Amino acid sequence: MEQSAVKYISTRGKAPAIGFDDALLGGLARDGGLYVPQTWPRLDAPAIAGFRGLPYPELALRVMRPFMEGSIADAALAGIIDQAYRNFDTAEVAPLVALGDGEWLLELFHGPTLAFKDMALQFIGPLFDHVLKARGEWITVVGATSGDTGSAAIEACRDRNAIEIFILHPKDRISEVQRRQMTTVLSANVHNIAVAGTFDDCQALVKAMFNDQPFRDRHRLTAFNSINWARVMAQIVYYFWAAVRLGAPERAVAFAVPTGNFGNVFAGYAARATGLPVGQLVVGSNRNDILTRFFETGAMQIDAVHPTISPSMDIQVSSNFERLLFDLQDRDGRRVAAIMEGFRETGRFAVEARVLQAARAMFDGARFDDDATRQTIRGVLEDFGRLIDPHTAVGLAAGRARRRDLGVPMVALATAHPAKFPDAVEAATGVRPALPAHLSDLFERPERCAVLADDLAQLKRHVEERARARAAA
Ligand SMILES: *Cc1c(COP(=O)(O)O)cnc(C)c1O
Repeated sequence: MEQSAVKYISTRGKAPAIGFDDALLGGLARDGGLYVPQTWPRLDAPAIAGFRGLPYPELALRVMRPFMEGSIADAALAGIIDQAYRNFDTAEVAPLVALGDGEWLLELFHGPTLAFKDMALQFIGPLFDHVLKARGEWITVVGATSGDTGSAAIEACRDRNAIEIFILHPKDRISEVQRRQMTTVLSANVHNIAVAGTFDDCQALVKAMFNDQPFRDRHRLTAFNSINWARVMAQIVYYFWAAVRLGAPERAVAFAVPTGNFGNVFAGYAARATGLPVGQLVVGSNRNDILTRFFETGAMQIDAVHPTISPSMDIQVSSNFERLLFDLQDRDGRRVAAIMEGFRETGRFAVEARVLQAARAMFDGARFDDDATRQTIRGVLEDFGRLIDPHTAVGLAAGRARRRDLGVPMVALATAHPAKFPDAVEAATGVRPALPAHLSDLFERPERCAVLADDLAQLKRHVEERARARAAA
């Protein structure tokens, strides 16, 4: 079947429409916006019914193919997908586990770094490599991480010739396991930087580097974080994967998603836009509840970042929300640009009642503090004999609190392995989760990491000195 190639446009309306490969390599659009498909490809009911029983890589190919028409050839794409999910510790890739009362856990943590970021990044690493090799090009990946993205990006890029990678993390604000998963990768092309500041400070530094056009061009800066469209795309797959197991397309399925940057739950929205019957999307927040407050009030209002036991959600600015805002504003890029500009200046914006209503037709939000999170972890151990991580617990609790229809299965996305947050899990249950075998010597491995101030000029010098070798080569 011939399909015309999907183009990608910016949420801020001022960048030209580009093909998939350019959106992949470009990351952030030049007008500061995020790339989205110009039109949502549609998978109809017979196509979705045909997903039943397919192995994960085959289903991934069928879901992602329409987003990549005109890019990479089918056989090469199939090879990359196979390679990506071969690194998972179960052939199922993303097991769906029954709890009770139509409640399910979708385990997205079976990749090399034990968090759901691997679901997309294990695919994107080889995809970048393929596209770069075909073009005879190289890139510098720069990203900020609140803990899990960084290690997943590093695992995806390590030892790849065409990629130099710099990952910023907030010093002392991520777990030791998270840090070591990054800093113990000693590959020459991997550069870890601990910044004295918060995750939002790190993200602001990365954005500022991208906004320096000459610097960006000189080093071919590329984003690997969740603003990259290809990451969202790869995450759409597991919504289809779970839903067809629970009766889609004949039956709707609801999802509960522990949310930080809004990338994961936006993939659920994209699955729905592509044709999947998604009954409800529940956003779970920890004490950093800017999104939950938005769904309650229609106002996005920045607050201080509070450290919690679910640190990958200790975020106030959820970058991917802009993609939803674009659709909520009838895809009016100028409108979105004005809103985001005001948000940058004042730390606040509000949408009209009509827009809030449209958002609420699909989304709910709920917040849980650390005590409630520990209680949920304890409850799941008591009721089902399973250990879950604090992020998963926030999402699960949110799904329970906001579930609209008990006839619709609720799938809670399990975004990290409990052993990634052993202190929090032990504090909640008295049981210390063990690392899987492939990471059992993590605490004995040597680390390498630079420590820098929250200072753009110093950071640029640091990148310049290390990326220069390759630029000159
Ligand atoms: C990144 C992350 C989240 C938040 O996902 P977003 O796509 O940023 O909303 C939740 N849980 C875990 C374990 C994560 O690593």
